[in-house]
Amino acid sequence: MQYEGVLTKMETEFASPIQYYMTFENSFLNVNQALDKNIEISFLGYQCLNCSKKKKIFRQGFCYDCFYSSPAVGDWIMRPELSTAHLGIADRDLDYETRVQLQPHIVYLALSSEIKVGVTRKTQVPTRWIDQGADEAVSIVEVPNRYLAGITEVALKDHFVDKTNWRKMLQNEVVSLDLMAERARIFERLPEEVRPYFNTDLNEHFVMKYPVLKFPKKVTGLNLEKTPNYEGRLVGVKGQYLIFEDGTVLNVRSYEGYVIGMNIS
Ligand SMILES: [Zn+2]
Repeated sequence: MQYEGVLTKMETEFASPIQYYMTFENSFLNVNQALDKNIEISFLGYQCLNCSKKKKIFRQGFCYDCFYSSPAVGDWIMRPELSTAHLGIADRDLDYETRVQLQPHIVYLALSSEIKVGVTRKTQVPTRWIDQGADEAVSIVEVPNRYLAGITEVALKDHFVDKTNWRKMLQNEVVSLDLMAERARIFERLPEEVRPYFNTDLNEHFVMKYPVLKFPKKVTGLNLEKTPNYEGRLVGVKGQYLIFEDGTVLNVRSYEGYVIGMNIS
C-alpha cells in the first residue's frame, strides 16, 4: 500500500492495545495493521500546517513566520503558568487564548520512564498521555483555567520531572512506583488556591497498553533530513513513535508538516 501526504501527529483511540491512525488528504492508515510489515519512508518536502506554503518547517509543524505569529504556539503553551487570559490580558490573540485557556484543565502524574507531572486540557484526556507513551496516568486536580494548572505544575516540579526520557520510554525501562500512593502524598504540596480543586475521583486512573511486538535494546532517532529514505520492519508504536526492528525510531510529532511518501509491504 502506498501513502503520500503531509505528516501530522497520529490520531489515537483508547483501546487495548491503543489504536493509531495516520491521516493523509485522501486516505488513512490504521498503523496497528502495519505491524510486522516493511515500511519505506521518503521525505519529499515541506508544507506548513498553518499557511500551507511549502516553506521549511521551523517547529511544531509551523514555518518560521507562522511559529512567531500564530496564537496556537505562544509561550503559554509550553509554560502554562504564563497564561494571562484569565486576567483579560492578550499574548497574541485574546479571543483565541480565552477560548483555549479558560476551559477545564487537568494536572496529572504519568508514569512513562519515571513519574512526571504535566498539564493538559481536559478534552485531551487520555490523548495527551498516549502521545507521551505513558503506561499509567492519574489526574491530580481539575481547575477552571490554564493558569491555575500551570502554577500547580510549577509547584510540583520540585518533586517530579516534567519531561519524559524518550529513550527509556521506548526501551520500556519504566520505574516501578505506585502512582496512586504518590498521588495521595501530593495534597500538601499543592498551592493554597488550587487545593479546593483536588480531584477525589480515583476512577481517573488510566492504564495504557501499546501495540509493541518487541521493545528495542538501543534506540536511534531517525532524522528525515539526513536520511530522506529509510526502510525497516515496524515492530511497535508507542507515544508518537514508530519503532523499527533495527532500533530506529521515528518521532512522528517532530515531523509534522513534512511531506512524506510511505510504502507498506
Ligand atoms: Zn506557515
